[in-house]
Amino acid sequence: MLKSFKVMLVPNNEQRTRLFQFAGTARFAYNWALRKEREAHDAGEKFISNFDLRKEFTVLRNSGEYPWLKTISNNVTKQAIKDCVDAFTNFFKKQSRYPRFKSKRRGDFSFYQDTDKIRITATQVKLEMISTSRRKNRRQLNWIRLAEVERIPVGVKYKQPRITFDGLNWWLSVTVEFEPEKTQADGEPLGIDLGIKNLAVCSDGTIYPNINKTKTVKRLKKKQRRLQRSVSRKYEMNNTKGESYSKTRNIIKSERKLLRIHHRLANIRQNYRHQITSAIIGRKPSSITLEDLNVRGMMSNRHLSKAVQEQGFYEFRRQIEYKAQWSGIIVVIADRYYPSSKTCVACGHMKKNLRLSERIYHCENCGNEIDRDLQAAINLRRYAS
Ligand SMILES: [Zn+2]
Repeated sequence: MLKSFKVMLVPNNEQRTRLFQFAGTARFAYNWALRKEREAHDAGEKFISNFDLRKEFTVLRNSGEYPWLKTISNNVTKQAIKDCVDAFTNFFKKQSRYPRFKSKRRGDFSFYQDTDKIRITATQVKLEMISTSRRKNRRQLNWIRLAEVERIPVGVKYKQPRITFDGLNWWLSVTVEFEPEKTQADGEPLGIDLGIKNLAVCSDGTIYPNINKTKTVKRLKKKQRRLQRSVSRKYEMNNTKGESYSKTRNIIKSERKLLRIHHRLANIRQNYRHQITSAIIGRKPSSITLEDLNVRGMMSNRHLSKAVQEQGFYEFRRQIEYKAQWSGIIVVIADRYYPSSKTCVACGHMKKNLRLSERIYHCENCGNEIDRDLQAAINLRRYAS
């Protein structure tokens, strides 16, 4: 089984400059190869092979016409040329459109690293030739810091290491060959109730609160709303002639700020989901039961849609499912109409009309009182057994 990891990089200024140079060189090599292929194609000549292109590129590299080419790792251009050849092959197989040139404006910033040259530790990654100084490279002074510690397994073989820029940050993604657990986990089965008040309530009593209600997130959201309003107001102000909207330097600046907040929020939520799903899997329950959430139905409720979207239930379930698979845990999805909240855990009585506002379930039959979400989680656990 293949497992992929994507972790943000924290480069210093010098490293950041180099990353842009690497991405620029990859773009250069890709476009160079594309131009060659297009010329051949337009002239009705044969498709140029990867081997021939690389040979020609090496000549170009050694010619000294572009001296900076020598400061960038060979593997970066090698992979970029291969990408271009693949794009053309896919086009000939009618699997993709006619390949177009990569552009800085469109945000094409990415490059590959050689699988043998890349080095990853718990905290850092070393990319080939990122430092122009040999001494620095050897003395490991130029390793790039990873934003998340111990996320990527070390001492394994990496596939397709790729470095990309998303407009704000640089990211490292790698794929690792992984053996899933063969023996089944043997802990207590677990039921999980997902919701808005708390993200997840587990049948063992563990509660994971809604991160969107924390101070940090609330403050960021407030900032986001204020910026959004100010940006649209600026657009209105510029639109004096009533013709077209133009972007001023100020608007560009504000929009970049807005994008930064947006990314930050998305990162906080995603990290939180990863933390929780990993913690749940780490307890090694023999099975995990989740509700088959009617997310689309919930989204149509305009009072809830925003909150539902922020919780990312699908993503939560996706993480549980793949992480469970690695650890030999069975995942059960309960039927959408299974009355997990409405059934009394003590006597099995079903309350037909349970209002959403009833946070504590009072059983009319046996008098039992229990938190509504915890009851749902316990019922879900029972569903699987
Ligand atoms: Zn009861």
